Amino acid sequence: MKKDYYDVLGVAKDAAVVDIKKKYRSLALKYHPDRVPENEKKQAEEKFKEISEAYAVLSDPKKREMYDRMGHAGIDQQYTSDDIFRGADFSSVFGDAGLEDVFSQFFGGGFDIFGGSSGRRGGQRGPKRGRDIQYQLDISLEDAYKGVKKEVKVPRYEYCKACDGSGAKSPNNIKTCTTCNGAGAVMTSAGFFRMQQTCPACHGQGKMVTENCSQCSGQGMIKVTRKIDVNIPAGVDDSSQLRIKNEGEVGKGGAGDLYLLVHVLKHDKFEREGNDLYMNLGVSFTKAALGGEIKISTLGGHVDLKIPAGIQSGKVMRLKGEGMPDVRIGVNGDLYVRVMIDVPTRLSDEQRKILEEFARLSGEEVKKEETFKEKIKKVFK
Ligand SMILES: [Zn+2]
Ligand SMILES: [Zn+2]
Repeated sequence: MKKDYYDVLGVAKDAAVVDIKKKYRSLALKYHPDRVPENEKKQAEEKFKEISEAYAVLSDPKKREMYDRMGHAGIDQQYTSDDIFRGADFSSVFGDAGLEDVFSQFFGGGFDIFGGSSGRRGGQRGPKRGRDIQYQLDISLEDAYKGVKKEVKVPRYEYCKACDGSGAKSPNNIKTCTTCNGAGAVMTSAGFFRMQQTCPACHGQGKMVTENCSQCSGQGMIKVTRKIDVNIPAGVDDSSQLRIKNEGEVGKGGAGDLYLLVHVLKHDKFEREGNDLYMNLGVSFTKAALGGEIKISTLGGHVDLKIPAGIQSGKVMRLKGEGMPDVRIGVNGDLYVRVMIDVPTRLSDEQRKILEEFARLSGEEVKKEETFKEKIKKVFK
């Protein structure tokens, strides 16, 4: 039984295409067969095919409509497995993440997944760039407000200098692979996919090593922890991704890129929505009744908030420009302050009487009525 496409991507039935695209991208980065350990590759490949098919259908309005009405049966009747992918926009999902080549190589046996007029891009067989690395960085809301410079320590693989990345003790220890006769790839079929797969014996090298380099135990790569200074721009939102060129793993065709996934930690006072901030403000009963000023600490400093006399609990006041800066244009959003009046829990008869009197007056009348102010101050001492 095929799984529901929406479940496969983990999106709602009414999800917008941009969200489907976003979700697919993050899943593809996670399950990309080139990004998982060797023993998880097989499973990751299956998962990768599954999410790619779900994306191909749900990102195409016609196919999605068909799927919504008829389910898998509708899609399978209407489209061949190649047609499902035809016209799907994979290139803008991955942009320049460097995955495109690997992607078309992965599906390369069957069809032109990117629909380019110049034919299959997977046909390029140059030296491969190193893998991209994803790394999560937690920052506070204060740091996100001001922007921050952080040093991150990212482990990555670099070429072993002793063997120049070959993994062999000496060049004499390198022989042509007998499984693929040096081609580096073999054809396999999995379900309805015809795939050109990297040769499992030589991992695509076309060569085999008879004696390993002692420095890297034949891996050709050595793990190195890099210290990288990154500038997080002011206004950065949670789940933003920053790309740092050439800080990914090192391959023969150059280094991949580092993708920093910025996670802005929850704040105990401010809640963020886009560039606006929200907060609750406790106001004493007398201040609410009589009006006054309250000093509020904002992310940018302090603001004296004027409380009008007679303000009600739940009233929201807007402080213009006290929200988060927009990461692109630098203009600040607003801060919304929700007033929470601390109402006395037990009232004396005298207090109750004056509250009833207070309830009949408007805010303006309260302000004018000096003796009333005095009365409130006295009974709510
Ligand atoms: Zn080595
Ligand atoms: Zn081989």
